[in-house]
Amino acid sequence: MREQFLNMLAPGLCSLSPYVPGKPESELRRELGLEEIIKLASNENPIGCSPLAHKAMQAVMPEIARYPDGSAHELKQRLAEFHRLPAECITMGNGSNDVLVLLSEAFLQAGVSAVFSQYSFAVYALATQAVNAISKMVPALPADDMHMPLGHDLQAMLDAVDDSSRIVFLANPNNPTGTWIEPDDILAFLKELPDHVLLVVDEAYAEYNNDQSLVSYLGEHPQLVITRTFSKAYGLAGLRVGYALSHPDVAEVLNRIRQPFNVNSVALAAAEAALADQAFIEQCRTSNNKLLMEADEKLKALGYKTIPSRGNFVLMDCLHPAASLFEHMLKQGFIIRPVANYGLPNHLRISIGSDEEMRAFFSKLPAMGTRL
Ligand SMILES: *Cc1c(COP(=O)(O)O)cnc(C)c1O
Repeated sequence: MREQFLNMLAPGLCSLSPYVPGKPESELRRELGLEEIIKLASNENPIGCSPLAHKAMQAVMPEIARYPDGSAHELKQRLAEFHRLPAECITMGNGSNDVLVLLSEAFLQAGVSAVFSQYSFAVYALATQAVNAISKMVPALPADDMHMPLGHDLQAMLDAVDDSSRIVFLANPNNPTGTWIEPDDILAFLKELPDHVLLVVDEAYAEYNNDQSLVSYLGEHPQLVITRTFSKAYGLAGLRVGYALSHPDVAEVLNRIRQPFNVNSVALAAAEAALADQAFIEQCRTSNNKLLMEADEKLKALGYKTIPSRGNFVLMDCLHPAASLFEHMLKQGFIIRPVANYGLPNHLRISIGSDEEMRAFFSKLPAMGTRL
């Protein structure tokens, strides 16, 4: 970068590298000229979204020249009823990524720190660095841990909290590992957490395990913030809509710095309709959890190690560098997710696709150790 611009940059941005998304289908099609491409790389819902959400999107199209409702009044009312919380606890975001960034902007700055685990969702480190705060990355549980290999080490995270800490980010379950923490363990962690620290529990995959959420504890714990998204089980990743649930005082601050129209009108309408269709979510949960279990068994049968997962994806361990297997599968038309950028060069993350997509994938996946 030109010296001229480098000198102008906000501190924290000089060494910031952007988030690396899954390879888009269109890019692979251009590169290899493949007809059929199956993308299992971004934890999207293979079933799509509720038909009710589709209808709601069509219905707002004639109104698209108008600004959206900047307060997201209707959607917040529905979310408040759904979660049995006052609407004042809700902050809407352009995806939950947006609310994670808002939290960092509101509570982090130079000289203070955020604590998160090694192998946890990449956005925590990015959002922390962007505001020039300190990232305290805590070593994960070892790969040979009996219960939760590569999982969050809650005790070590608590030990890393000090006077400078303002936020602890905890993904439950975590992406890209799929590992989880039992609600009771998080509640015990919260009890020990000093008053000057927020615990942000990222529940992006909560719909896949509906009894693991901490939402019902928000009232008792003003330091608890929960983030949710319509991108995963709700199948609306392309619309960008997510939200935070928190103490009303925290929500009030986040809403001060939120862009006035950060959730577009199509997303608002679709999310409201999608939320009302819990039968669809139930169907996605059942389907995902069955296909996830099957994928885990098939990977093991082929000789790979797997990390236990409660998401809509599974992390496989190839026991040596996985780049050649990734390339091999690309040539077969399958986009999966390398996680070397997380410090896991031997692993690949497989999003759970449809039954048909998973069959196709396993028909082409070579056994571990196959020379490629
Ligand atoms: C996908 C994901 C998100 C972000 O989703 P949005 O599309 O921005 O709502 C947040 N946290 C985790 C752990 C995720 O995997």
